[in-house]
Amino acid sequence: MMLRPFLRLFPVICASWMLILAGSASAGTASTVSKVSVDGLRVWSGPDHTRAVFDLSGQVDYQLFQLDNPPRVVLDVNDADLKTRLKVNNNADIRGIRHGKKGKSTLRLVFDLNRNKRAKSFLLPPNEKYGHRLVVDFSDPKAKQKIKKSAKASASKQRDIIIAVDAGHGGEDPGASGARGSKEKHITLAIARQLAKAINAEVGMKAVLIRDGDYYVGLRQRFEKARAHQADLFVSIHADAFYDPKVHGMSVYVLSQKGATSEAAKWLARSENKADLIGGVKLDGKDTLLARVLLDLSQNAAMEASQKVANEVLSSLSKIEKPHKKHVEKANFAVLKSPDVPSILVETAFISNPQEEKRLKSHSFRQQVAKAILNGIKTYFYQSPPPDTLIASRVKAARNRPNRHIVSRGETLSGIAQKYRLDLRSLRKANKKKTDRIRSGEVLVIPTS
Ligand SMILES: [Zn+2]
Repeated sequence: MMLRPFLRLFPVICASWMLILAGSASAGTASTVSKVSVDGLRVWSGPDHTRAVFDLSGQVDYQLFQLDNPPRVVLDVNDADLKTRLKVNNNADIRGIRHGKKGKSTLRLVFDLNRNKRAKSFLLPPNEKYGHRLVVDFSDPKAKQKIKKSAKASASKQRDIIIAVDAGHGGEDPGASGARGSKEKHITLAIARQLAKAINAEVGMKAVLIRDGDYYVGLRQRFEKARAHQADLFVSIHADAFYDPKVHGMSVYVLSQKGATSEAAKWLARSENKADLIGGVKLDGKDTLLARVLLDLSQNAAMEASQKVANEVLSSLSKIEKPHKKHVEKANFAVLKSPDVPSILVETAFISNPQEEKRLKSHSFRQQVAKAILNGIKTYFYQSPPPDTLIASRVKAARNRPNRHIVSRGETLSGIAQKYRLDLRSLRKANKKKTDRIRSGEVLVIPTS
């Protein structure tokens, strides 16, 4: 049977069945000998879209169309049978699903919606986990604009530093799995949520969760969402896997030069990207050479910052345990390809290592990891804060007052006491400290007499 991805996107219009049927008939798709069975349905919901995935016994031809009053999405699957009971539980977008026959061999599936949605569909070939699939995405056409507006509204004089926290995988894509059965997608979400909470507890910092539930977000969509929120940093959280269960430890990745170069070519090739802002510069209307130079500048700056943040995060994580590799690693990961947002990927541990899998399931270990990532991020941003941020003004104020000291990485309280010719006890007292523990980025009071 021929694979015929049938991607039809009908704006929601009030149309009669007759009109629609004529439309689909002219698309003419009938072929095939044996019947394909629809064996299952899974539904995942995100904040701005719902994804329905049908499991199929083989490739299909189908048509999709939308109707309103009441809003519904209809799929006519040629030469198909239903081999399962279809059910959709408590979904904000989908009220229910019905099925019926159209003619002799066409299976008609009807989603009844709670409100008008834009439906987009495509076929997926088999992978290690699933067979043939038909995917229908229901999204709100206004969702994108909403994000842009809120990002603008929050832009004030001294803004927060925005960290996009991306929980790897999700929904249809479980990621790696451990010997005890934990799935990477659940672990990454738990860590991402703990990290976001820790970020939001910081003065002058704000977290944006790229995924906040068990649903899939496309790799490019992830960094596009970070860009739409005008993030200062993108952090993708993962849990590694390897065939040898003994392999363990954390790693931190940035985009490789090869990945950056191929991405730059892509950006310049696509006209819709040229009209976009790269690092505050509009590429549209620039000649190719100039556009290339501007893109390079912005990409190089983002990559340099990525490397610096990654170094700090790795060094901070190394305090929990010995990392998998001593250096920040480079890879051609699609999720890191944002041309103007510094991006890092943290493999928090090996889920394939039974001991690490057990630790990943513990809230307190995840909290340690989240805190360590945050400390690395803070060290970087206290050293080089974006100029229009609240943290930049705090750092500047501290620098202008002679009796303040900002802790940088590797400094100790006793070392600082020595530097200012103070005894350790008075430095402790001035800062109301019971122990000598200090964090990078912390502002210490230096007693003057
Ligand atoms: Zn992963």
